[in-house]
Amino acid sequence: MLAREDHDALLRIVGPAGLLLEPADRLPYETAARYGVGSAAAVVRPVDTAQVSAVLRHCVRRRLQFTPQSGNTGLVLGSIPDTSGTQIVISLDRLRTTPHVNGADRTVRVAAGVRLSALNAALEPHNLFLPIDVSSDPMIGGMVATNTGGARFLRYGDMRRHVLALEVVLPDEAGTVLQLSNGLRKDNAHLDLRQLFIGSCGAFGIITSATLEVHPRPQRSAVALLVPRDEDAVLDLLNAFEVRAGEYLTAFEGMSEAAMRHAFAHVRTLRNPFLDGLPPYAILVELSSSAAQRSGEPTLDQILENVVTELAERQAAPLSDVRFGPPERFWALRHSLSEGLRAAGPVLGFDLSFRRSEVMLFRRVAIAQLATIFPEYEVCDFGHIGDGGVHFNLMQRAPAHPNAARVKALRDHLLDLAIRDFGASFSGEHGIGRANQEAYDHYTPASIQSYSAAIAAVFARMPAAAVRFGPQRSVGESDDD
Ligand SMILES: Cc1cc2nc3c(=O)[nH]c(=O)nc-3n(C[C@H](O)[C@H](O)[C@H](O)COP(=O)(O)OP(=O)(O)OC[C@H]3O[C@@H](n4cnc5c(N)ncnc54)[C@H](O)[C@@H]3O)c2cc1C
Repeated sequence: MLAREDHDALLRIVGPAGLLLEPADRLPYETAARYGVGSAAAVVRPVDTAQVSAVLRHCVRRRLQFTPQSGNTGLVLGSIPDTSGTQIVISLDRLRTTPHVNGADRTVRVAAGVRLSALNAALEPHNLFLPIDVSSDPMIGGMVATNTGGARFLRYGDMRRHVLALEVVLPDEAGTVLQLSNGLRKDNAHLDLRQLFIGSCGAFGIITSATLEVHPRPQRSAVALLVPRDEDAVLDLLNAFEVRAGEYLTAFEGMSEAAMRHAFAHVRTLRNPFLDGLPPYAILVELSSSAAQRSGEPTLDQILENVVTELAERQAAPLSDVRFGPPERFWALRHSLSEGLRAAGPVLGFDLSFRRSEVMLFRRVAIAQLATIFPEYEVCDFGHIGDGGVHFNLMQRAPAHPNAARVKALRDHLLDLAIRDFGASFSGEHGIGRANQEAYDHYTPASIQSYSAAIAAVFARMPAAAVRFGPQRSVGESDDD
C-alpha cells in the first residue's frame, strides 16, 4: 500500500497509465516466469530515462524499496517483489523506442524494454542479428542485467561480449544518469564501469538503454543429433568438432532422455527422430556460417557428415548413433525442453556451470548419488555443455507434495557436491535473485560479498553500512528499512 504522498508524487511523474495499483493489473508483474508470486505496493512504468530518474530519485529520498523488472522471464526470483507488499516494481516495459541500427558500425542502440524478438526483427532487414539464443523472449535491460548466455555462447559468447555502451540511472538522491562508454570497441582511456552493471541484476542501478555489437545473420546451417557412446565420449566429440569444423561450430547442446521425453509429451507436433526410442543422452551440434557457399567448397552438411564418419570409424568410436535432419526440427526439440518440464510438474532447478571437462563427470557422480540418497527424484538435465553449463533439473517421479526439509537436504547435497567438489558456480547464467540468496550467502567468499556491497554503496552515494549487495537486495534498499 502506497502512502498518499508517494502515490501523488509517482502519479505526477508517470501519469495514470504508468502507475498500476489494482491487484489484477499488478499480478503479471508480481508473478514469476516459474514458481513464485510476490506482492507489490505498486507497479511503476516510466516511459523514458527522465521518468526512470525521477522515480528513482523519489524512491531513494523516501527510502522506498524497489525492484527493476524488464521481461520478467528470469528464473531466480530477481524481478518480482517479495511478499511484504511494500516494494515497488519499476517496470521498463514502456521503454521501447525503435532500435537505432548502424549497419556501418554493426551496432544497435536499443532501449531496455525492447524484447529480443523485436530487436532481431528490427535487425533482420540489415542482415544482422543478436546471437543470444534462449527459449524465452526477454527484454534487453534484463538481458544485460543478468548477462544472458544461451545456446550459442560457444561461438558468440554472452551479453557481456556484446555490450559496447550503457545508459544507467543510479539509485542516489539525484537519480543520476550515467553514459558508460560511447560505442567504441576499444577504449582504455578510463575505468570500464559499464562492466559492473552487466550481470549485477540491478544492484548498482537501472539500465535504460544499451549499444550492442551485432553480427551478420547466418546464411546456412547444418544440424545433427549425436548419441555419445558414454559420458567420457562427450569431450572427445566436442574436441573433434572444434578441430574439424573450426569456426563453423556454433552450438553443442546436451539433452537427457528424460528432458526429451517430457518435451515430446508436451509438444505434440515434435517428432522423435530416433528409430529405437530415445537414447539416454543426445547432443545437438550445429555448424553455421554467415558467408554464402562458394563453388568447390564443401557444404556444411558435407563437413558435418565427414566429421561424423571419421568419428564413427575410430576404434572405440565415441558415437553410438547420429541423426541428421532439418535444423528447425532439431532446434524445436531443444527449445521445447524447458516448457516440457514445466508442463510435467514442479521442477527443482539448478543452473550450474563447470569447467567443461567436468560437466559429464559431475553428471555421472550426481546421478549415482541421487539414485541412492534421493531415489524419488528423476534427473531431467539439459544444457550448454559446450561451454560447461548445465541446467540440472530434478522432478519427483511420482507427483507428491514436496517435503520442504527433504528438498532443502537435496539442494544442500547437490550444491555442496557441485561447488565444493567440482569448483562449480551455482549461477551459470540466470543471475542472482531471491531463489539463490542462501547459496550466495553460503558459498560466496566474504571478501567478495563485502567488496560488492562497498561498490553498491558508492553508486548509491550512501555509507557502506547502509547498503547490502546480493540477491535479496533491490537497489535503494538500506539496512534499517
Ligand atoms: C523458458 C526459459 C528459458 C530460458 N533460457 C535461458 C538461457 O538459455 N540462458 C539464460 O541466460 N537465461 C535463460 N532464461 C532466463 C531469462 O530468460 C534470462 O535471465 C533473461 O535474460 C532475463 O531477462 P528479462 O528481461 O526477462 O529480465 P527480468 O526477469 O525482468 O529481470 C532479471 C533480473 O534483472 C533485473 N533487471 C531487469 N531489468 C533491469 C534493468 N533494466 N536494469 C537493471 N536491472 C534489471 C531484475 O531486477 C532481475 O534481478 C530462460 C528463461 C525461460 C523462462
